[in-house]
Amino acid sequence: KLDTARLQALDAAHHLHPFTDHRELGGRGTRIIERAAGVYLWDSEGNRLLDGMAGLWCVNIGYGRSELADAAHRQMLELPYYNSFFQCTHPPAVELAHAIAEQAPAHMNHVFFTGSGSEANDTVLRMVRRYWDLQGQPLRKTVIGRTNGYHGSTVAGASLGGMGAMHEQGDLPIPGIAHIAQPYWYGEGGDMDEDEFGLWAARQLEAKILELGADRVAAFIAEPIQGAGGVIVPPATYWPEIQRIVDRYGILLVVDEVICGFGRTGEWFGSQYYNIRPDLMPIAKGMTSGYLPMGGVIVGERVARALIDEGGEFFHGYTYSGHPVAAAVALENLRILRDEGIVDYARNEAAPYLQKRIRELADHPLVGEVRGVGMLGAIELVKDRNTRERFPGKGAAGSLCRDLCIRNGLVMRAVGDSMIMSPPLVIEPQEIDELFDKAWRTLNMTAQQLGRS
Ligand code: PMP
Repeated sequence: KLDTARLQALDAAHHLHPFTDHRELGGRGTRIIERAAGVYLWDSEGNRLLDGMAGLWCVNIGYGRSELADAAHRQMLELPYYNSFFQCTHPPAVELAHAIAEQAPAHMNHVFFTGSGSEANDTVLRMVRRYWDLQGQPLRKTVIGRTNGYHGSTVAGASLGGMGAMHEQGDLPIPGIAHIAQPYWYGEGGDMDEDEFGLWAARQLEAKILELGADRVAAFIAEPIQGAGGVIVPPATYWPEIQRIVDRYGILLVVDEVICGFGRTGEWFGSQYYNIRPDLMPIAKGMTSGYLPMGGVIVGERVARALIDEGGEFFHGYTYSGHPVAAAVALENLRILRDEGIVDYARNEAAPYLQKRIRELADHPLVGEVRGVGMLGAIELVKDRNTRERFPGKGAAGSLCRDLCIRNGLVMRAVGDSMIMSPPLVIEPQEIDELFDKAWRTLNMTAQQLGRS
């Protein structure tokens, strides 16, 4: 049995955590997750938790698939490392590029590998700039992102993203990046109906292009559905209008598939769900189901042809671009997703049931909105359902709900007062029932503690 107290003391002494207010931990210590199987986690004190977040939207095939461990083991013995620099490559990287291109939209047929989603978005920024230089339009430099978009934690990723706290803490964004409003109808739609608001939000892009000068704008970057921003599902009118605008001004469309890719929406990619035509698609997370770190950029014909035919050497790459062991694991993950029909299962069975059950939470007095697509869902907690008045203390209600969730054996993530649920794609109906039974019980406890029951 693990010595929890010892690990917690060592953790407090030496370990700086990402996205954590260390002061909040107080004397409590961090929770130590020891092992996992299927859709469940176990902590060092023996508590079983249903993982309603698939790790961080990664573990699409669920935990404990020995085929991935076997693939890693075989590849480590065969060729643990080599690079794809200087006119070399190795079988796993080539096979993986091919396997990804087969699932991606037809014109998206090249892949540049990275070690993470953040590196993928750094690569995107460099590719976009390189592309316009090669077109003889070096002044086209500005990339437009969105408030509360998330594209990673590196300087470029955090700049492209629109998270206020990241910008404040890092003196960001870097020059050459602008932002428009997110399509968050429930929070910002005012008197507009949803379709009308979707058009309004998309047309913010056109307004920004005209403000900056159409010959200065290089690209627009967005997630199909904002994930870390609170699972913001755009109104149905949004993406068609965005596509019209990027086409009209000829700017590159970057669709960040780090969360939506590899089955999360019930399609292989969110771009297919919304029927949009990206030029670049950063990927990570579900690419390996989180079993090893890996990311990449799927590059469309337009940019690939420029880089390959006109560009000469693209002076960019990472030691771990296309790492053989990560690539072997990703290949096995893709094989499982495909051969076991997991994306089809998500689309036809798990997602319809998850979305039905999530909509039942709309009856709870704490819940102002429920939203979701595929295996992505969120509920937003409000003080008053009629006026949409928020609870005081920015996100305090969400944090309370998250803590009570854990006590009830369920992991959900709080983004402000939005509670996110995005379990592994392989979750079974009775496990979905368990998730929502726990969620309902937790909402009751939250209401009680907030004096709302
Ligand atoms: N893009 C999106 C949409 C993400 O959700 C994330 C990670 N949450 C990233 C990029 C960054 O990926 P990574 O954490 O692997 O660097």
